[in-house]
Amino acid sequence: MTMAATETAGEQSILQSVPKQLLIGGAWRDASGGGTLPVEDPATGETLCEVADGQVDDAQAALAAAHEAFPAFRDSAPRERSDILRRAYDAIVERTDELALLMTLEMGKPVAESRAEIAYAANFFRWYSEEAVRVNGRFTINETGVGRVLTMKQPIGPCLFITPWNFPLAMGTRKIGPAIAAGCTMVVKPARQTPLSMLMLARILEQAGLPGGVLNVLTARSSGATMEPLIRDPRTRKLSFTGSTEVGRKLIEQSAEQVLKVSMELGGNAPFLVFEDADLDAAVQGALLAKMRNGGEACTSANRFHVHDSVAGAFAEKLAAAMGELKVGRGTEDGVKVGPLIDDDQRSKVAELVDDAVGRGANVLVGGARIDGAGYFYAPTVMTDIAPDARVLSEEIFGPVAPVQGFASEEQAIARANDTEYGLVAYVYTRDLGRAFRVCEAQETGMIGLNQGMVSNDGAPFGGVKESGFGREGGPEGIEEYLETKYVAMNV
Ligand code: NAP
Repeated sequence: MTMAATETAGEQSILQSVPKQLLIGGAWRDASGGGTLPVEDPATGETLCEVADGQVDDAQAALAAAHEAFPAFRDSAPRERSDILRRAYDAIVERTDELALLMTLEMGKPVAESRAEIAYAANFFRWYSEEAVRVNGRFTINETGVGRVLTMKQPIGPCLFITPWNFPLAMGTRKIGPAIAAGCTMVVKPARQTPLSMLMLARILEQAGLPGGVLNVLTARSSGATMEPLIRDPRTRKLSFTGSTEVGRKLIEQSAEQVLKVSMELGGNAPFLVFEDADLDAAVQGALLAKMRNGGEACTSANRFHVHDSVAGAFAEKLAAAMGELKVGRGTEDGVKVGPLIDDDQRSKVAELVDDAVGRGANVLVGGARIDGAGYFYAPTVMTDIAPDARVLSEEIFGPVAPVQGFASEEQAIARANDTEYGLVAYVYTRDLGRAFRVCEAQETGMIGLNQGMVSNDGAPFGGVKESGFGREGGPEGIEEYLETKYVAMNV
């Protein structure tokens, strides 16, 4: 067989091994009515395979299964839940190669980046396998000296998880891991574009001994129609959503009806600040990571580069040189550093933002256009001379585009960085300790990368403020989202 034929055979074999049905109550089954929906390779636009197109009654059955499985899972031994997560962690790590190929096929990112996401995703299972056996309440003497205060932590109940396409595995494991550790059951709806990684994960959890009904997976073309009734159903006790602010807002409204406990990991518009005292080469390397990880399709992607006037020109040129060298192509090819965007809509939105900036006088140092041919490729782009009203400064780009703007003072940098309705993450490059603290304290964000271009870490609380949402995923904070605190006032 030729190398290309071997590669294709490898791709076919992994695609064949993925379950394509719905997982409900421990059984894999077709969607009611037998409908399916296609999963596309964004590098070619071709259909990879079809998965079940879940309907409203399938969604109801999935919630019923999660509800039924809850009492036994709630009462299961923490050590048993811990062991399930640990076995699943081991299996994901062992199967990294096939999972990475699968992720690249459906999402497009280079295989090396898929491998990195798989390690990140697996780490949530390891972290929460360790937390499962460390859920504690407290016991104190009442401040009056009479009576006692006892608190107990209890799993909240059946959860709904809705995840996006940009990190097909990690956005699931950082909800599923703490939920299992806490003793919750769940219905997971992955994004329409990337259901395969989640279906494979469900199979791995099954093989790791997760009881039927604890995790139910619903793939569906109609997210709104299938999920809204579940959000309004009193059997649901928690909704955790990762996706756009626009959809998050709708889901919060729907959740209000039964005052559902909600976590929202929404959009971002991350500023990347470079001060005149920064190590410029380190800042360029950090910028490359903060901008180009996941091809710019990350909520944490640096969206706006604010650089001190004295170094803005040099920074932009170095960044443009580095971005211009990145090889663009199908994520399975050797040496490729930038894959396609997820679909044509996403690429058109990126192109629109660049064209708008150029129309208002921006200067394109590198890139600035779609790449012709099959798939949804866009050239890595660096722009300077950005007009203050250019849309690229206020809207989430979600693509490989870096607008660079100069600033004159620390106050101006902070004001510009905070001039957004989003508040997920900011990146700050400075070697001045006092300035580092001042700027970190002044940032209206949930996270800050200080002299580093990445913040994602299974042991740390990931999340935003303002319209980037609320709730935290990862670290000891992450499991609290799945626990209720009950207080017992004791008369002793
Ligand atoms: P999206 O359009 O909001 O979709 C996210 C998920 O919501 C998908 O599963 C989608 O299903 C589902 N959905 C869409 N409309 C729905 C509705 N009316 N009711 C119920 N579910 C619905 O976002 P996206 O384009 O996939 O993802 C990109 C966004 O996610 C960006 O804004 C990014 O910043 C954000 N994100 C945030 C974080 C974070 O942690 N803060 C992490 C990653 C991504 P379908 O696919 O079927 O439409």
